[in-house]
Amino acid sequence: MDCIFCKIVDGSIPANKVFENEEVLAFHDINPAAPVHVVVIPKKHIASLNEAEDDDWAIMGEIQRAARKVAEELDIADTGYRIVNNCGKNGGQEVFHIHYHLLGGARLAPLGV
Ligand code: C5P
Repeated sequence: MDCIFCKIVDGSIPANKVFENEEVLAFHDINPAAPVHVVVIPKKHIASLNEAEDDDWAIMGEIQRAARKVAEELDIADTGYRIVNNCGKNGGQEVFHIHYHLLGGARLAPLGV
């Protein structure tokens, strides 16, 4: 499958990893939008939130658990952070392997158009 995040999972494309377990991988975004910008993904290929199936909800919880752990390890937990999922074209999704952006390290701008 021609999926850039699946290639990061299988090691054929490098990434600056910050967390990994059996189900979840987190790595620094190559084009950071905040002082801390980590991408958290399931190792399983799920194209977007729209494609998540009943069996996938547990891994969504694992993604949040991993994001919180990374926030603690990168020392942004106390000051706060944001977790964002871009879904589909209007949501700004560019990579169609579901992922959550963990953003922090500065006061973030309000959400909006
Ligand atoms: O939510 P969206 O699909 O727009 O985000 C994809 C993110 O994946 C971007 O922030 C991009 O910089 C990041 N990326 C990455 N490493 C790659 C390819 C994309 O960190 N090799």
